[in-house]
Amino acid sequence: MSPWASKIVLITRSSASYLALAGVVLALGWLSRSLEAVPAVRIRPWELDSAPLVIVDAGHGGQDGGAVAGGLIEKNLSLTLARQLRDQLHELGLRVKMTRDRDVFIELEARSQIAKKAKATLFVSLHLNTSETASVQGIETYYAEQKSLSARRSPSGSRGQHASEWLARSVQLHACSGSKAEDRGIKAKNYAVVTHTPCPAVLVECGFLTHVDEVAKLKRSEYQLALAQGIARGVVEFIKSQPAQSSGNWETESSIETVSEVKLEVDNP
Ligand SMILES: [Zn+2]
Repeated sequence: MSPWASKIVLITRSSASYLALAGVVLALGWLSRSLEAVPAVRIRPWELDSAPLVIVDAGHGGQDGGAVAGGLIEKNLSLTLARQLRDQLHELGLRVKMTRDRDVFIELEARSQIAKKAKATLFVSLHLNTSETASVQGIETYYAEQKSLSARRSPSGSRGQHASEWLARSVQLHACSGSKAEDRGIKAKNYAVVTHTPCPAVLVECGFLTHVDEVAKLKRSEYQLALAQGIARGVVEFIKSQPAQSSGNWETESSIETVSEVKLEVDNP
């Protein structure tokens, strides 16, 4: 026992209780300040070459600018956010491959092929939203209602329908808590990139370019960082919750051959 602790023992029982309580309060205050000072997630349980591989897909590019609003072109901001997400995922010890790291056009199908060829662990596509109603704001995350036949037949396994939904939940939760943006929930829609990609895949609509305050936030690098950190945390929490994904142990479809091809969304996000 330290001399300091010995003195405490000599004090009367009631005083000691108050002092102990005060000590606990002080310690908790210190702990919460310390926790704020370090990143929320810092884990490196993987060897570098066997770390999960995340495909980061910056929406649009080249002649496909995507949405134009609030003084921004979607393809530029999606790339900025994708680079920030890549850096955050690297920080957490994950491997990352970007579908594009410059202003270039890539077909939607080709983006899924990149994930397929790389045998990616999961796929995250980043986009920005617009609305005719100026007051609409917030983040929403999409996953495939059903994977395409080619995705389900992929040798990398029928990496799950349900796994995509869980990935969407995790990314949505942490993206919103990290950025304090409005939570618009997760949605099942057969957008091409998430439907054709065999591994768990989500498309995050990171905010509305048509909302005056939200677009102002989206232009700030601190907000972009908070958003990227939130999405990265969602990715890591998802990976941690999955058993042995490296062995292709995702749930498998039982009657693939009898299931017809899925219908893709007509509009691109
Ligand atoms: Zn888009």
